Amino acid sequence: MHTELSHALKAEKVLPFMNSPREGRRKGATATIVNDDTGNRITVRFRKPKGFKAVLVDLMTGSDNEESFSFLGTLSGEAVRISPKTRIASEKAQLAGVILNWTIRNAESDNLRTVRVLHSGSCGRCGRKLTVPESIDTGLGPECSKHHR
Ligand SMILES: [Zn+2]
Repeated sequence: MHTELSHALKAEKVLPFMNSPREGRRKGATATIVNDDTGNRITVRFRKPKGFKAVLVDLMTGSDNEESFSFLGTLSGEAVRISPKTRIASEKAQLAGVILNWTIRNAESDNLRTVRVLHSGSCGRCGRKLTVPESIDTGLGPECSKHHR
């Protein structure tokens, strides 16, 4: 199923959103990173299987934004590390890693002006539809955002 990803995350909320997925939730938090200068974009999903401490990162490698994800690596703290177990072609995986880490590093600076991080309009942690304006800015509902103070 295709869902339009159209809500931009506030720059300082990018990392909390990436770290937001609730343990065991299969779909996790999905974000699209768009560079308005080049038109390049990548879609990534953050999820946390039961028993994992790090957040796992998947890269969208096909056209179906519900199913076409492949495991890329892990997000621990503020850095994404490409896993040697990824089945994504090396060049593509490395590029995605560079984009993700650049975005995280620049999330709180003016550098993020030409790069937008979009989410689907549902809570990154529990998946519920977001309706409150503040929640749409942060990608997290009022209850779930309490877990990121
Ligand atoms: Zn929620």
